[in-house]
Amino acid sequence: MKFLRDLNLKKKRVLVRVDFNEPIKNGELTSDFRIKAAIPTIEYLLAEESKIILVTHLGRPDGKIIEELRTDPIAECLKKLIGRPVKKLDGYEVSQSEEEIILLENVQFHPGEKSKDPQFIGELAELADFFVLDAFGQAHRDYASISGLSDVMPSCAGLLLEKEIKTLSRVLGNSGHPLVFIIGGAKISTKMKVIENFLEKADNVLLGGALANTVLKAKGIDVKKSVVEDEMLEQAEKILKNPKLYLPTDWIFSDEMILDIGPKAIEEFKEIILKAKTVVFNGPMGLFEKDQFKSGSEEIARAVADNSGYSLAGGGDTIALLEGLNLLDKISHVSTGGGAMLDFLAGKKLPGIEALK
Ligand code: ADP
Ligand code: MG
Repeated sequence: MKFLRDLNLKKKRVLVRVDFNEPIKNGELTSDFRIKAAIPTIEYLLAEESKIILVTHLGRPDGKIIEELRTDPIAECLKKLIGRPVKKLDGYEVSQSEEEIILLENVQFHPGEKSKDPQFIGELAELADFFVLDAFGQAHRDYASISGLSDVMPSCAGLLLEKEIKTLSRVLGNSGHPLVFIIGGAKISTKMKVIENFLEKADNVLLGGALANTVLKAKGIDVKKSVVEDEMLEQAEKILKNPKLYLPTDWIFSDEMILDIGPKAIEEFKEIILKAKTVVFNGPMGLFEKDQFKSGSEEIARAVADNSGYSLAGGGDTIALLEGLNLLDKISHVSTGGGAMLDFLAGKKLPGIEALK
């Protein structure tokens, strides 16, 4: 795999796939964590006097134009962070522009992004001399702007992608034990493979959030009207037998739905987390966006931050949680990837990274 310094990018046109998929509310970004994380690559290219063309997705427009998901607020945010003009385009065509930094429109407005359409890949490739992949958070996707461009033009990993690969490889290679995984969040179907994998690698796997409901139900607990993925019950039953797996032992019910882990579960989880030499945290323990159901997520996030070993956290909502508590600085490494981080740690091949090899 090539890195920025392996290519001569001086005064060249460089297309950079970044992951600026920030949370957005009423047209405003509620975080700038991922944008900040890509600044080193942008500054490197500025020093090379390259013409920088940035491309990202935002939200889930699914091949259609959604006005609220245009990349304009990202351009505004980047302009402030970098102190230079950023020219935001409404499409994917770049004319001879004065500006040195260009931001294309949301790449997922184009149906060819997710279908990896060769014609769309060709159009993107036309824009530049080189391609840089810096979107670690999307590296697990097999999309046009992620894994499609390195076949058709000289390409390399950006500084953020490089840092993520090196840091996560180190955690994989020599993590201290006890190694504890905390997995929460929305859907067990998207995280089951990773949970199974971690049950082999780790000493303890703590489950919380909505995804624990399916496992609780498989255990025979009456979860009432909680969110459950019934098609996952069979697999859930299998992991139940593993003594490394820890489920919450009490919950906060509201309108007959489990919306947070209970005080006893918080204490049990905290005790395990504080003893860990390595702790990996992805996914909140409950509906933390609502004050009544945030204490499980907050207490667990604090325990991860207080742990004196190596702590690793990732995931869009997990970052928002840590950011809200001002704990980002207290985590050894906050990955810009959620799914990508979990897949990487599980030893899966990520299409974006594979394409660069
Ligand atoms: P991340 O982005 O960190 O990977 P996920 O996207 O998997 O995390 O899950 C986060 C979402 O899951 C949050 O919106 C949170 O409110 C929701 N959630 C967690 N626990 C519950 C629950 N018990 N009931 C409903 N929603 C939940
Ligand atoms: Mg999320």
